[in-house]
Amino acid sequence: MAGEPQDDCLFCKIVAGHVPATIVRETETTVAFRDINPQAPTHVLVIPRAHHRDVATLAAEAPELAADVLRETRAVAEEDKLESYRVVFNTGAGAGQTVWHAHAHVLGGRGLEWPPG
Ligand code: 5GP
Ligand code: ZN
Repeated sequence: MAGEPQDDCLFCKIVAGHVPATIVRETETTVAFRDINPQAPTHVLVIPRAHHRDVATLAAEAPELAADVLRETRAVAEEDKLESYRVVFNTGAGAGQTVWHAHAHVLGGRGLEWPPG
């Protein structure tokens, strides 16, 4: 069923506390934690607690939860005092998605080129 935890999902395991992570913020519906392989001084992943495979599915199945994730990206940027930052949702293998639980990357603390390549 949409949103149910998946046994084989790394980020569901982080939500459940079965895999450790450096958590920076938690709400009733979201968790934000530092990326294990940071690409910038701030590199935080914001995820919904509920399992949705990517942001497109999340937006279609649970738009209010997608809004919660976006709200938390802003909170992360404020906490790290980022004036400029990037929010990225890699969607599909061809765009670099490797974990199939929707997540926003919040990247900042250095100059970020555009287009990203
Ligand atoms: P994607 O490539 O799917 O957009 O992003 C997945 C992100 O998850 C990558 O940036 C990767 O470094 C991060 N990641 C993968 N495994 C772990 C983990 O076990 N813990 C944390 N904190 N991040 C992870
Ligand atoms: Zn999951």
